[in-house]
Amino acid sequence: MTDIIKLLPDHVANQIAAGEVVQRPASVVKELLENAIDASATSIKLIVKDAGKTLIQIIDNGKGMSETDARMSFERHATSKITSADDLFNLNTKGFRGEALASIAAVAHVELKTRIHDNDIGTRIEIEGSKVITQEPCATPSGTSLAVKNLFFNIPARRNFLKSNNVELRHIIDEFQRVALAHPKIVLAMFHNDGEVFQLPAGNLKQRIVGIFGGKTNEKLVPVAEETDIVTIQGFVVKPEFSKKTRGEQFFFVNDRFIKNPYLNHAVSAAFEGLLPDRARASYFLYLTVDPSTIDINIHPTKTEIKFDDEHSLYAILRSTIKHSLGQFNIAPILDFDRDSNLDTPYAYKDKHAHTPKVEIDRTFNPFDTVPPPKKGASMPSYTKQNVEGWEQLYEGLKTKPSEETSNITFESDEVTGDLFQKETGHAFAKAESSTYQLNNKYIISTIKSGMVIIDQHRAHQRVLYEEFLRNITVKESVSQQLLFPLVLSYNSSELGLLVQLKEGLENTGFVFGKVANETLEVTGIPTSLTESEVPIVIEQLLSDLENEVPDTGFSQTDTLAKSMAKSMAVKAGERLDASSREHLVNSLFACKEPSVSPSNRTTFITMNAEELDRKFK
Ligand code: ADP
Ligand code: MG
Repeated sequence: MTDIIKLLPDHVANQIAAGEVVQRPASVVKELLENAIDASATSIKLIVKDAGKTLIQIIDNGKGMSETDARMSFERHATSKITSADDLFNLNTKGFRGEALASIAAVAHVELKTRIHDNDIGTRIEIEGSKVITQEPCATPSGTSLAVKNLFFNIPARRNFLKSNNVELRHIIDEFQRVALAHPKIVLAMFHNDGEVFQLPAGNLKQRIVGIFGGKTNEKLVPVAEETDIVTIQGFVVKPEFSKKTRGEQFFFVNDRFIKNPYLNHAVSAAFEGLLPDRARASYFLYLTVDPSTIDINIHPTKTEIKFDDEHSLYAILRSTIKHSLGQFNIAPILDFDRDSNLDTPYAYKDKHAHTPKVEIDRTFNPFDTVPPPKKGASMPSYTKQNVEGWEQLYEGLKTKPSEETSNITFESDEVTGDLFQKETGHAFAKAESSTYQLNNKYIISTIKSGMVIIDQHRAHQRVLYEEFLRNITVKESVSQQLLFPLVLSYNSSELGLLVQLKEGLENTGFVFGKVANETLEVTGIPTSLTESEVPIVIEQLLSDLENEVPDTGFSQTDTLAKSMAKSMAVKAGERLDASSREHLVNSLFACKEPSVSPSNRTTFITMNAEELDRKFK
């Protein structure tokens, strides 16, 4: 019998491969957009005609290709992105199979024009059904332009199989949006039949979402943020009341790559449980960052599915993070981006007159006097002159319903001068001093009636400062220290622009500004809680935080200002706190409106009651 096995000719092999990679025009759009991103483009233009059936062209300003690379790029398994199998476990690029261009060129008319920045002359290549028609030098801007015409011209069955223009265009837009959402810093534009579909400037994540889904989206978003050893989660979920009946805006990105993952989607739905109207689905834009070696993106040729090493932990973390964000948004109006004018001045301080802060102290107050616990159902004792004995009870029940319980605690003292214990008489102070401990220069441990409370000092202090700043910004009762010599700081014009917009808010926290000119800002007075050398750091932090916010929302800028200053001014982990500072912090925290979370929604304290301890000692 004669031998019958033959190697397939390249163009046939390529066509077969194309069947996997190029299912429809949208697949071409995805591959080409990803190539442009892998080439470090900062600006990408997509031009589509007849839903991609006639033309798909991508023009990027990325690094371009040399003459040899330009030709090589159309060979199957030709890639610049991996050199060994090990690289597969540490992928930082979108592509790696070296199949896309070869596949596309097998089933379409392709024209490539590309130039490396340092070369004067670029290369133009025309390929039709894997056959090189032309290769010649050409004048072209630096970067790459790839035009794919007459897709499936040589596979009529595939061409006939394409859906209506509306459907195919929808798929293209989906791919475009996924890439756009994954890369908010890249300028992106899309045109269809000469009409502009998207024009997206570089921005932060929120601006990008709003740029794609429209201005109204801004108020629908609830921020999500969590950082753990195995994953960092960022992004937004859409408030339950704006959810849709269709599987609308559900976006997961892992290391900037759009993925579909029913299991993680389930985690999000589980977090929304009970909050969504009947049969509605949660909408979300969630960005997971994980160590690339803990995922396998190789299980699907079009790479929207990936495998995680530790999917179960991810599920749990995701679910609780989102639950937490939703919970915070429900109880904390400060996270509500609705531009309701009432919210612009939190805590109903709007019409209040400014007053000098004062402390009222009950000299007979001894926190260690034991008193019977309050009757069941009775409200929490309020921290006032008449009723201070229940000091320890203030912490009772915090674990279960922090916001509700603590909202009943009305502290008359102002945090600015709240050195409660220092001003106390010797006896009480001495005892108080022994009731807090610092662990690892990071946590403050204090006893409470029912057991103990462990406080994260950095987060707690952020919460205290945040509320203080919000009050100051709205009530304008801050104090400022005049600088002997004005501080002159340099910023670029867009940074200065941002600072000028926030001038009033900053002044209300205690800043006093002099001249603003020639990219410099003169600071003549600063908040008393700051030292001169900290000022540049605080402003730097503020500018970077503002970059992550959508401008022109006065309310959220106030909020960002308060959050940012709180973050940079709060005691850090690793700082030793003396007894009175610890006491002060504990008291100030529980005098807050929302003591249980930091301004960025992280837990500030946990409690452990006697029964839990008993259980541990079993
Ligand atoms: P892969 O992206 O998996 O490497 P492709 O077939 O998509 O495979 O591309 C092959 C190679 O062509 C890439 O590795 C890259 O070196 C080069 N290339 C493709 N598109 C571009 C582009 N827009 N700019 C610069 N180089 C590109
Ligand atoms: Mg590619």
